[in-house]
Amino acid sequence: MLYVARKFLGQRLFNKLMKMTFYGHFVAGEDQESIQPLLRHNRAFGVGAILDYGVEEDLSPEEAEHKEMESCTSAAERDGSGTNKRDKQYQAHRAFGDRRSGVISARTYFYANEAKCDSHMETFLRCIEASGRVSDDGFIAIKLTALGRPQFLLQFSEVLTKWRRFFHQMAAEQGQAGLAAMDTKLEVAALQESVAKMGIASRAEIEDWFTAETLGVSGTVDLLDWGSLIDSRTKLSKHLVVPSAQTGQLEPLLSRFTEEEELQMTRMLQRMDVLAKKAAEVGVRLMVDAEQTYFQPAISRLTLEMQRKFNVEKPLIFNTYQCYLKDAYDNVTLGVELARRECWCFGAKLVRGAYLAQERARAAEIGYEDPINPTYEATNAMYHRCLDYVLEELKHNTKAKVMVASHNEDTVRFTLRRMEELCLHPADHQVYFGQLLGMCDQISFPLGQAGYPVYKYVPYGPVMEVLPYLSRRALENSSLMKGARRERQLLWLELLRRLRTGNLFRRPA
Ligand SMILES: Cc1cc2nc3c(=O)[nH]c(=O)nc-3n(C[C@H](O)[C@H](O)[C@H](O)COP(=O)(O)OP(=O)(O)OC[C@H]3O[C@@H](n4cnc5c(N)ncnc54)[C@H](O)[C@@H]3O)c2cc1C
Repeated sequence: MLYVARKFLGQRLFNKLMKMTFYGHFVAGEDQESIQPLLRHNRAFGVGAILDYGVEEDLSPEEAEHKEMESCTSAAERDGSGTNKRDKQYQAHRAFGDRRSGVISARTYFYANEAKCDSHMETFLRCIEASGRVSDDGFIAIKLTALGRPQFLLQFSEVLTKWRRFFHQMAAEQGQAGLAAMDTKLEVAALQESVAKMGIASRAEIEDWFTAETLGVSGTVDLLDWGSLIDSRTKLSKHLVVPSAQTGQLEPLLSRFTEEEELQMTRMLQRMDVLAKKAAEVGVRLMVDAEQTYFQPAISRLTLEMQRKFNVEKPLIFNTYQCYLKDAYDNVTLGVELARRECWCFGAKLVRGAYLAQERARAAEIGYEDPINPTYEATNAMYHRCLDYVLEELKHNTKAKVMVASHNEDTVRFTLRRMEELCLHPADHQVYFGQLLGMCDQISFPLGQAGYPVYKYVPYGPVMEVLPYLSRRALENSSLMKGARRERQLLWLELLRRLRTGNLFRRPA
């Protein structure tokens, strides 16, 4: 319909039509200037903005697949000289190369070249500046897949997952299978013995891995100590080997990289640094979006590294935790504990997760365990469990902050009730709420009017550049029609109430 309308109406009329309808509802405007009235209007009602410059390349599925296959394999893998074979989950698969398909409410970036990543970084920088100009407590959303070659994210994710799996394997040997991540602690003497027996490292080498401080009096190593051995910048992981889950043979954690690939990794980290520095300079907080599970361990880990550096005084960088994942609780508790231990300020956004259909289909087709909770109810329970853990932390730690990014009324009610019970006051701005622009205003605006810090995720950008994303929103909205029907019903009720009371225009309290 959009295509036909554009053809018959011509570009100008088409833009007008879009602004009066679909685009006007979900997108704030074309540029930093034109979004100002909407931002001001929302702010008057106590509703802030998470700016998201919403351009998306209009690629065909074939083009997207091609770009994905090109950018997710290393030179060593292409020429067959790679030393180890990646797990299926962390390989690019043509059938799932178009990461846009089945994705709810998220923009997708495909890697073209380094210059394109620089231009994405410039866009994020402009977004940070725009957010800094309109308020002193704004957020902007960034996606790490926009900032570098996804191959690095895939490979680093695999390394982190294998390393964590190895930890759990040794925990099982020490009779600790099935414990929650933060409760699992390896006896260092037994660990030294197993690692030496496997021929991975000598006893003396392992002694060098951990300081006396880490080991403390208990002489144990937990998952955080273990994880600290892998560092994206020191490349220690290059020297590490782990036993393969399939063959039991030792294999290197990382495959061989060319000089250019090493440079690509470094540039991605540098771009993240540039953004964080700019955000610190203008007082805008950065929310790093969570993406697909084959990228997410790396995204989350790189975000933690930024948090360590930039969340010293207050949380400037927010990590995102997807509660539809089976290991969400472990991830959240590890994040909180790391912040406690290293004395930086925890900042997180909790979401259910936007890639459900794609994740499930990929796991089933390629043949690995579905990473998503088995049911919607299990995801809800996981969300509330994670949220509860974080809220408890907020009670004791006034510098920690969380954003409850959800349209779910039960979740909002749950948060409000727990905030009251834990005496977390809205005015302290420790708990934020987040909804997408054009959705669930019946949640955002009353919260804003009642003094709770609440934010709309605000996409903006030229009509034609936002259109690919918008047309996917149109498809996705069919699954959200239940919510839309409820909103329409509420709007009618409100209209009738206003007509009855002769109070047609609502002014902010
Ligand atoms: C401000 C904001 C920021 C966001 N940022 C991100 C982000 O960085 N990364 C990201 O992935 N998403 C993000 N999202 C999207 C979010 O993850 C959800 O997709 C979306 O908000 C819908 O979930 P809900 O909590 O609003 O409510 P609901 O509509 O109650 O929940 C729907 C969600 O429940 C889960 N679910 C549904 N059915 C099942 C099932 N059968 N089994 C298991 N789980 C199921 C899915 O996650 C689905 O999206 C963001 C959303 C907002 C509002």
